[in-house]
Amino acid sequence: MYPAPFRYHRPASLREAVQMLSALGEGAKPLAGGQTLIPILKLRLDEPSDLVDIGRLPDLRFADAQDGWVRIGALSPHGWVARSDAAAAIPIVKDCAGGIADAQVRSRGTIGGSVSAADPNCDWPAMLRALDAEIICFGPAGERTVPIEKFVLAPYTTALTPGELVTAIRFKAPAAGSGGAYIAYKKSAAAFPICSTGVQLTLDSAQVCRDVRIVLGGAGPTARRALEAEAELRGKALSDALWARAADAAIAIAEPNADVHGSAEYKRSLLRGLLLKTAHVAMRRSANAKIEGSHVYA
Ligand SMILES: Cc1cc2nc3c(=O)[nH]c(=O)nc-3n(C[C@H](O)[C@H](O)[C@H](O)COP(=O)(O)OP(=O)(O)OC[C@H]3O[C@@H](n4cnc5c(N)ncnc54)[C@H](O)[C@@H]3O)c2cc1C
Repeated sequence: MYPAPFRYHRPASLREAVQMLSALGEGAKPLAGGQTLIPILKLRLDEPSDLVDIGRLPDLRFADAQDGWVRIGALSPHGWVARSDAAAAIPIVKDCAGGIADAQVRSRGTIGGSVSAADPNCDWPAMLRALDAEIICFGPAGERTVPIEKFVLAPYTTALTPGELVTAIRFKAPAAGSGGAYIAYKKSAAAFPICSTGVQLTLDSAQVCRDVRIVLGGAGPTARRALEAEAELRGKALSDALWARAADAAIAIAEPNADVHGSAEYKRSLLRGLLLKTAHVAMRRSANAKIEGSHVYA
């Protein structure tokens, strides 16, 4: 199907894009890589009056580290992020960016578009919770920073206000002794995850867990932090038995939907297995083991 007619605009700067979106009003939508929006338009699930193409705005494709923060520009495509120095230094970032869809989608789809779409099946909104990320937004009232858990409010719903754009994502650079991993379970390469798990942890020299964040994707309407599971691990020397207890605590908060991919019970069991696998990779990476990430394909 062809999209319904719309007017197309290409602003030259971020400020102009925000002014345009504000002036055009509710019917206007920003267009970045188009990998979510264009299929939606072609299915006529949305019929915006105007598209404001931010895809070629300068200065929003970057990944840098400064003052203990890592920042990734909103227009950074997934594949570009996967090849960045930031991803080489922080393996959980590479796991996520490099595993999204296929090469075509990774070359066009952007991290900013992914968090703004707030699709409950997308990888970035889930994985970024494991890094306690913050979303940097710029709109008519200026710049503000919103923690990811307050940014993604519900499926397909964010805290963005009219005319506001995501300009970057930032998170604290992991401390020494940190390791992380993100693994999604997918039917095939160009399909969204059915479930996913992310673990980012820091161990001290005695292998005691100083910090840990665990996230479950596909376990509810939005990605969930498994806080009780994290509490099981924090301050303790990690062992298989402890991880098994933590996995039980994590699964206790999982509320996956039954759908064509399986029952809720099946998905809970899948999440448990994925979490233990993800934890294993994160632990080994915290000891500097070089392990290539890979999602699990059915
Ligand atoms: C075949 C296929 C398979 C896919 N598989 C996966 C997968 O396995 N995992 C996964 O995570 N994703 C997957 N995706 C989605 C893909 O990652 C998209 O790139 C991403 O969801 C949206 O990024 P985009 O730049 O294309 O955004 P667009 O499609 O351009 O925009 C998406 C939405 O966000 C808004 N928007 C875009 N940028 C901004 C911004 N900077 N500020 C404010 N609003 C903005 C738009 O108005 C629109 O509502 C898949 C897509 C396809 C087509």
